[in-house]
Amino acid sequence: MDAHRRPGPADPEFDPAPAAPVRLRDFDPTEHHRLVVNPFLAVLALMVWCRAAGWLLWHGPFPPLAVASVALLALVPRAIQYHCLDCGQTGSYSRRDRHACPAVFARWNERKRAWFPIPSASLQLTLWAYAIGSVALLLALSGDRPGGR
Ligand SMILES: [Zn+2]
Repeated sequence: MDAHRRPGPADPEFDPAPAAPVRLRDFDPTEHHRLVVNPFLAVLALMVWCRAAGWLLWHGPFPPLAVASVALLALVPRAIQYHCLDCGQTGSYSRRDRHACPAVFARWNERKRAWFPIPSASLQLTLWAYAIGSVALLLALSGDRPGGR
């Protein structure tokens, strides 16, 4: 007699383990994005600020206003934008992590990465910073050259 029969351990052939539940906190859309970073609006804002601050400093009615305008530089990173190659949406770079269009969900669901290896948004921004910084440095050096135009 087996009065106190305990259930044995689960037999994997008859009791398959339930599939792992899909948790949205596992969803990281940045791994499946196809974004292009566009820093040109921020560069334009920076150029406008440089001109305005220079004018305020040398020709303005109140030169300390030029120093106070440095606070406006805190807004420049907000002008950096991303553009999604899947859905065409354009948004602020600081909110790129929240972008998840149906194509991103589909790639995540199929556990596929983008078919074309686009650099991550942060790498693109770093490369843009080097490129724009190099151009700005060359322009600054050419402006200091005697006889330069
Ligand atoms: Zn999209």
